Amino acid sequence: MKLIVANFKMNLLIKDIHNYLEVIEQKLNKDQVIFCPNNLHIKYFSEKNYLVGSQDISFQEYGAITGDTSINQLKEVGITYTINGHSERRQYFLDNKYINKKVKLALSKQIKIILCIGENLKAFEENNTFSVLKDQIDNALKDNLNYINETNLIIAYEPIWSIGTGKIPTNSCLEKTILNIKTYLKETYNLNLKVLYGGSVNLENIDSLQEVSEIDGYLVGSLSLDPNKFLTLINKINN
Ligand code: PEP
Repeated sequence: MKLIVANFKMNLLIKDIHNYLEVIEQKLNKDQVIFCPNNLHIKYFSEKNYLVGSQDISFQEYGAITGDTSINQLKEVGITYTINGHSERRQYFLDNKYINKKVKLALSKQIKIILCIGENLKAFEENNTFSVLKDQIDNALKDNLNYINETNLIIAYEPIWSIGTGKIPTNSCLEKTILNIKTYLKETYNLNLKVLYGGSVNLENIDSLQEVSEIDGYLVGSLSLDPNKFLTLINKINN
């Protein structure tokens, strides 16, 4: 079964969430999909026993960090996962130091991590994809190996140039990059981790993406905002 993560980013209002929940009711496998709505909407999904993740956590467990949301507050409303290192967070708010701290904090609190990694267009064009990914992996995992196992960390490979742009890597490129990620994790850290693909997944490209055997699931942004389209996507993935 392929895992599917829905990242709503800053979209949707409470009325949309209620409508969304009505549309998907009884129509998906609750072990397959992890919803990552805005923090204000997490409880609506967790109350109905969907798997829920936050889009980020504060790097500190407690303290005076205005505007952040702590892991304990997020756990209280029902998350069991958190996205860490999404490229939009890396761009505006984070450096690798915080991503590394968040890995430790989340795993020590039994919250599973969806770690986003991905290269920008320049790195892709200059054939530097793998060295960027390797650095991102090393930075996140450094000193955290005691906490990590094969069920509590999932990698999401998201080329930055694919997110929200409609452009995706070719299948052979994806096959190679994801295999490189898995081989590196196995050889360096002795970890067999699931690797998801994220970036402009839609109803037009999903059949082709499904031919990439190394993809263990998908992280879906824009398309997940429409519950009917999202259900159609899940059906295509499962058939
Ligand atoms: C994302 O938000 O990580 C993402 C993959 O978005 P989109 O599907 O819209 O490209």
